[in-house]
Amino acid sequence: MNSPDDTPDSTTCPGCGAVLPGSQWPETPKYNASPECAEVAGELLGFEVQNAARLGYLHQLRIDAYGAQHVNPEGPRIGPVFALNGLYMFLERGSGNVDVRTAHSIMANSYDDWPRLVPPARAGELTAYDVLVAGGVDEVESTLLRWARQVWDAWPDNDRRTIRELTVKLVPERCFRTR
Ligand SMILES: [Zn+2]
Repeated sequence: MNSPDDTPDSTTCPGCGAVLPGSQWPETPKYNASPECAEVAGELLGFEVQNAARLGYLHQLRIDAYGAQHVNPEGPRIGPVFALNGLYMFLERGSGNVDVRTAHSIMANSYDDWPRLVPPARAGELTAYDVLVAGGVDEVESTLLRWARQVWDAWPDNDRRTIRELTVKLVPERCFRTR
């Protein structure tokens, strides 16, 4: 049942499965996300900016966790490749925001035969909404880290192996903090 202004009562995000109250947020073509989930992602960015001293180091991880959980099947192949590359570098190589952004630009300029990665039916149980409403900055930080880990772990082993191999092949050692 729709309300008089045609805002749905609630929507289910096709990417993460979050069921959220309907809003007027405009559609986002970049990700496979409900408008409401895209609005949550914007609010999470706002929270991060307000708490930049604590959460700034998770800036790229947040973007990549969201991207790897909301892959648009019609989108460019490089989308999920970049998202998973960022998750891999943060979670397994200790890389930070600048390392991952450097890697993305190097990768974009050195390769174009990206594999077509098909996301799992459900990429993790946690969602951006769970992160946003986790509580104060400590809870948001810990939940964001768990969310990113879940999203990475939910992708098939084969795809994660492909990402590890591509990353090691294309990205210079200086972008990795751990071996
Ligand atoms: Zn979502």
